[in-house]
Amino acid sequence: MRIIIFGLPGVGKGTQAKILASKLGIAHISTGDILREAIKKETELGIKAKAIVEKGELVPDEIMGGIIREVLNEERCKNGFILDGFPRTLEQAKILDQIFSEIKNESTCLIKLDAEDSIIIDRITNRLVCSVCGNIETKSDINDNFVCSICNSTDSFIRRKDDDAEVIKKRIKVYHETTAQVFNYYKEKAKTIEIDGSKSIDEVTKEILSKLSVN
Ligand code: AMP
Repeated sequence: MRIIIFGLPGVGKGTQAKILASKLGIAHISTGDILREAIKKETELGIKAKAIVEKGELVPDEIMGGIIREVLNEERCKNGFILDGFPRTLEQAKILDQIFSEIKNESTCLIKLDAEDSIIIDRITNRLVCSVCGNIETKSDINDNFVCSICNSTDSFIRRKDDDAEVIKKRIKVYHETTAQVFNYYKEKAKTIEIDGSKSIDEVTKEILSKLSVN
């Protein structure tokens, strides 16, 4: 099964992608996570991407295309995958078409999560990420001892540098100006599902699974 999860930053793509990957037994490929890891490790890619990511801009298509081509050819993607954060431009969608034509012939489903910009800004400004396991929690969800509910690490929560108010505005602008049009491209060529991403995590997951016809 090949799934693309699509929508504004902070709409819940990462959270839903993790749940779906585990329920469906497929790989979760987050280009944002790949870039953050490279930045942390100060690899060649990380050094190139750092300033771009921190400003909320897009890393060039040829770099992202190269990363995705390499990852999708890995063994862990052989049973299927859910792409989270890619493609973000029409050029990336075309690169993906080319990669898909070279790997196993399967149909693609695109899930679009929708929410108002105001909900997104509110969510992202309250978002903290566990630096050990990547678990995302909102400030009010974190208990007094700041213990991660997934990996039990203490004091491991950090705020992403690109979750700063000004950078969020930039990321939302980039989405509306550049990324949103990718949805129309897929409407023509793939199964597309639109879901209200402002509902609770459980409700969104249930709706996705029912629309995918998987329970
Ligand atoms: P995300 O975690 O998906 O919100 O991605 C965080 C940041 O990584 C984005 O704001 C971009 O700077 C960069 N990024 C992630 N995926 C891509 C992509 N497909 N194309 C270009 N830049 C990306």
